[in-house]
Amino acid sequence: MPPARLRLNDGHMIPQLGLGIWQVPEATTAAIVAAALQAGYRLVDGAAIYGNEAGQGEGIRASGVPRDEVFVTTKVWNDDQGYDATLRAVEASLARLGMETVELCLIHWPTPARNLFVDTWRALIRLKEDGRVRSIGVSNFNGDHLERIIGETGTVPVLNQVELNPRLQQAELRDLHDRLGIVTQSWTPLGQGRSFDAAPVQTAAARTGKSPAQVILRWHVQLGVSVIPRSTRPEGLAENLDVFDFILNPEEMAAMAALDEGARCGPDPMVFG
Ligand code: NAD
Repeated sequence: MPPARLRLNDGHMIPQLGLGIWQVPEATTAAIVAAALQAGYRLVDGAAIYGNEAGQGEGIRASGVPRDEVFVTTKVWNDDQGYDATLRAVEASLARLGMETVELCLIHWPTPARNLFVDTWRALIRLKEDGRVRSIGVSNFNGDHLERIIGETGTVPVLNQVELNPRLQQAELRDLHDRLGIVTQSWTPLGQGRSFDAAPVQTAAARTGKSPAQVILRWHVQLGVSVIPRSTRPEGLAENLDVFDFILNPEEMAAMAALDEGARCGPDPMVFG
């Protein structure tokens, strides 16, 4: 069953589940991206800093899947923040991808100490107007950062990609996103496997005959968020996509909610960068 799709606030659609390619070596990225698309993925989440945009583009072309069926994400790295630097950085990403446009470009981190994210956002608005990127969003932004870019530009990001997994459920931020019409997208959705052995995950896995990773990915789907797990193995790619043929019941969702500890795997966006 193909992944469901979510509507962005600019009218475009995004597949609910996609492939993340952080830490995938450039040399193997093309083959993994092509294999994922052939297995049914339609969203590939990359970034300039991942160092594998050329492989991301090459894999999409090699897959045989028409370009207009694939949703490509890239991100502006912290050192490229600021208006002119961002315009240059996105052109460089497009050149490495070998594409005229991408479906989504995000500000990778707010890096509040630099105080450049509003200028960076203005550059993304310009790139959208120029057709170089179709939709624009952010990553690792908190409520204050969101309110600032919206207040200063009037343009609401389509999506905020944040760390979200059973130990860090981001309920307050998800509520804010819902009020603002922003899609939540989960990074490190499997939480480094730290909840695989938790009783609610194991119990739901036993009932449904699914793996702990599939239960957790299904939990993301039922939260209504978009999710971008990373796997580099063919079996892992197939397993992670196969989460649209079962449903966690309300008791299982409630038990998953109780796993929240507010504990991060990654850095704190208030101080990172
Ligand atoms: P993830 O939660 O997707 O987990 C990846 C790890 O889980 C790998 O070690 C993989 O081998 C393992 N795994 C994958 N499928 C599995 C399965 N079915 N069973 C058991 N183990 C499995 O973590 P991630 O890569 O950190 O995050 C996903 C994507 O999010 C990244 O690839 C990247 O695209 C994006 N990301 C964005 C940011 C950001 O700041 N915006 C930060 C980190 C990651």
